[in-house]
Amino acid sequence: MDRLDRMRGCLLLSAAGDALGYAVEFDRLKEIQKTYGPNGIQSYELSPFDHKAIFSDDTQMTLFTAEGLLFASARKDRSEKEYIWLAYMDWLTTQFDDAPEPFQKCRILDEKRLHHRRAPGNTCLGALKGGVMGTMEEPINHSKGCGGIMRIAPCALVHRDRHEAAVSAAEASALTHTHPMGYIPSATMAFILHSIVWEEETDMKQIVLDAMHDTEELFPGNAYMPEYMDLMNRAVACAENSKSDMENIRELGEGWVADEAMAIAAYCAMRHPTDASAVLRAAVNHDGDSDSTGAVAGAIVGAMIGKEAIPAEWTKHLECRALIEAMADDLFKAAQDPASLPKMYRSEVIQ
Ligand SMILES: [Mg+2]
Repeated sequence: MDRLDRMRGCLLLSAAGDALGYAVEFDRLKEIQKTYGPNGIQSYELSPFDHKAIFSDDTQMTLFTAEGLLFASARKDRSEKEYIWLAYMDWLTTQFDDAPEPFQKCRILDEKRLHHRRAPGNTCLGALKGGVMGTMEEPINHSKGCGGIMRIAPCALVHRDRHEAAVSAAEASALTHTHPMGYIPSATMAFILHSIVWEEETDMKQIVLDAMHDTEELFPGNAYMPEYMDLMNRAVACAENSKSDMENIRELGEGWVADEAMAIAAYCAMRHPTDASAVLRAAVNHDGDSDSTGAVAGAIVGAMIGKEAIPAEWTKHLECRALIEAMADDLFKAAQDPASLPKMYRSEVIQ
């Protein structure tokens, strides 16, 4: 399978998991089962207006992360995290009319379908409106919500270097979530995606174990690491027991916070490493943040199987499908040769 197919698969199945889960984001499992039956939601709840599968802020922000990375890879006048921050400021304009200091350069702003509020996280909105970039060194809040990890898959696609991919993902998350558990799990996620996309590893359990090991090395002595590694080890153990996905995910949390979202997504990916439908259904049917766990798990398995292996039911009705693919294509170009990116990313130096 070629790398471009993996990158497309990553972003598409992530959006699909987000869209499947968005319909039940705030529902407890019991409520989901009451509506959709004992196995929970199994297929998209299509918009009654145009029969599209609607995704949430998770995918919106993932696409804006991609835009920031494209600008950063083609221009060297600002740091990567600054360009991602600027792209998020453009996302903010899609949520509010009076957003502060928009960048107004992201080409995806032209896509009207992105100009909708889809339950955006208060931490993201608050941090961006506050106008101060969060960093790992200079915290702006104490949030470990999953709003950071849900949007950083593009960081692992564009960076060939494993260490750079993980630092990029952690920094992009820390822009808005500066509790260590708000950005450290993003490094784990980037390590997992990097193994799949760039190293063509296929043993999902080993991929997760390697990512855990590398995360510990990247943040030596972090006070929260032992507890996080316990949780991740529980995910690894759960993936090998005989219990149902619903029972196992209950053991791992609800995914509103980033460490739990990573654990749930890693568990789902280890249980269903090559089955797009099974991983999405597992990842969204629980008490917690279904769209974010769906998005994170979908990104992992989508990268593993590639776009061509994703069943049509997950791509056919997905809104902005062509745009998502186009962003994956440009991330691929940025990783190969930034000079081949569309001119708008390269041309002018931004003041
Ligand atoms: Mg969401």
